[in-house]
Amino acid sequence: MYPLDNPPPTNPTIDLLLSTIGEKRPQADLTMVRLAYEFAETAHGGQIRKSGEPYIIHPLCTAITLAEMNLDPNIVIAGLLHDVPEDTSVTIEEIEKNFGKDVAHLVAGVTKLGKIKYRGIERYIENLRKMFVAMAEDIRVVIIKFADRLHNLHTLEHLAPKKQYRVALETLEIFAPIANRLGMGEMKGQLEDLSFKYVYPKEYAWVRGLVEEHYEQREAYINEIKTAIDLELQKEHVVVHSVHGRLKRLYSLYQKLLKHDKNIEKINDLIALRIIVTDLADCYAVLGIIHKLWRPLPGRIKDYIAQPKPNGYQSLHTTVFCDHGTVVEFQIRDMQQHLNAEYGIAAHWSYDEEGGVRPDRQLKWVSDLAIEGDTIQRLKDLDNLKIDIFQNRIFIFTPKGDVMDLPENATPVDFAFAVHSQIGNQCAGARVNDRIVSLDQPLKSGDVVEIIVDKSKKGPSADWIGFVKTTHAKQLIKQHAKRTLADWIKMALPSRGK
Ligand code: MN
Repeated sequence: MYPLDNPPPTNPTIDLLLSTIGEKRPQADLTMVRLAYEFAETAHGGQIRKSGEPYIIHPLCTAITLAEMNLDPNIVIAGLLHDVPEDTSVTIEEIEKNFGKDVAHLVAGVTKLGKIKYRGIERYIENLRKMFVAMAEDIRVVIIKFADRLHNLHTLEHLAPKKQYRVALETLEIFAPIANRLGMGEMKGQLEDLSFKYVYPKEYAWVRGLVEEHYEQREAYINEIKTAIDLELQKEHVVVHSVHGRLKRLYSLYQKLLKHDKNIEKINDLIALRIIVTDLADCYAVLGIIHKLWRPLPGRIKDYIAQPKPNGYQSLHTTVFCDHGTVVEFQIRDMQQHLNAEYGIAAHWSYDEEGGVRPDRQLKWVSDLAIEGDTIQRLKDLDNLKIDIFQNRIFIFTPKGDVMDLPENATPVDFAFAVHSQIGNQCAGARVNDRIVSLDQPLKSGDVVEIIVDKSKKGPSADWIGFVKTTHAKQLIKQHAKRTLADWIKMALPSRGK
């Protein structure tokens, strides 16, 4: 089978779900999971999906996906029950009575997100807004929604073409970018590839054909390289968890092809070699070993461990010249970084059982976006917001070493407002890496920025609107301009009443 296909289990059963959980969490109490399955099965009763399967197959597959991500049993249980309030006569209250507050809260969240339909830009804004609000309330709801969508995409062939297109387009436009922003690489990749087929069928066929044509030859070559590196790692006594080839996903390959004259020969990472080590320090040791064997391509060594991507991705990347002038990309990371790269934010809920840290279910940047998402009314606002979330991000440091995550080309004024609205209001100048710069100078990742504050300053300059990049800064500047005007009118009008 083509290595990217990742179909849902055929004939899934409750036993498969239980064994998936049991494998990852031998201590887990499976009684509630079994009860939730029986509860959902009874509630959905004789319902049949468009595919002709009993309805319960859908929530079951959703729950299996969540269990594979090693999420805690409450999330899996909510996955089993996610369509019950929407599609049956059973209420959230009954779910709460049987499975507790937390599960009921998750199911209610998924129900609130509702059955999203992509119908032009207004719906798009509405849906995006709903997603942000849900994310701000509890990220776990969005993760269940992803698993739900994944199974719907797997069974999309049974729907009418118009509906297929809508669901797939919405997945590409909303779900996949958000999954990416949450660092859920595996989820993002699957959502994209499953939708790609329906949104751009011709392009999909073309890319898939190209890969099938080149795959075997490159795979044989990658296997040679793998043997060479395995041997060298043994010689150097580096303990690795695994060395394996990873095939680039179709949609991301398609986007890369568009940037490279549609020429697959120019794509170096169609298959990359991924080395998972057991100890973080070994990442750098392995990098050294690779560079001793093969010469690295200049400018292609990327240390995402020291400087993670904005979505949290950590790895070392390098591209090297191997034999016969071929180039191969290596990705090196430890096991924890690997799980993070695959599951992103969802990986944080994997350790509850060992009593590990329970991270916030509310991320600050997500709640910021939710507030902004709530105010989007027009296409232009939406464009701004999309730039904030989906564009490349840069990291800027305060003189004390705190990190701010900003969109590309953000300026010292954006930075000032990101630190605090008061700093933005009184911003009078900026020092970047110890040199005074103009306030509209685009910042670069790694810059250390110090804002020079003028305490006598009453507010931001209206002309900053012309160059700031974040919606946050724009809104605060506008608000201030409005308020000044209102104050001015108030002052100018004779006081009434009193
Ligand atoms: Mn569903």
